Amino acid sequence: MKNYDENNIFNKILRNEIECEKIQENQDNLSFNDINKQAPVHVLTIPKNKYANFNSFAENASDKEICSFFRSVLEVAEKMKIKDSGFRIIINCGPDSNQEVPHLHAHVLGGKNLGSILG
Ligand code: AMP
Repeated sequence: MKNYDENNIFNKILRNEIECEKIQENQDNLSFNDINKQAPVHVLTIPKNKYANFNSFAENASDKEICSFFRSVLEVAEKMKIKDSGFRIIINCGPDSNQEVPHLHAHVLGGKNLGSILG
């Protein structure tokens, strides 16, 4: 995929070079605990295909991949028992968002009242 850094840490997780605490996995996506939790539940969902950010994903991924990605987030919410109590999905994209890891990921946060949207 164009403009994709093969050495980013999430690609290393996908290549099994770095361990993760897996929460959910299917053919298209992998979900694992964030290493630096910002809430009682803080899971990252990533597509297995190589998209550097949300723009690249929304422009290039198939409808099936996009649907599957959001279904995986829902499975995470179910598995972590925050589907009904509520949760927040954050996708950082580009410099103003301070996106650190250049492989698309959704932060799935919950397990307490999360306060206002920007903290
Ligand atoms: P972002 O700023 O949206 O790119 O978020 C990157 C997230 O990846 C941060 O919340 C980090 O704590 C998390 N992170 C970085 N390295 C790892 C890792 N090896 N395993 C799990 N989460 C990680």
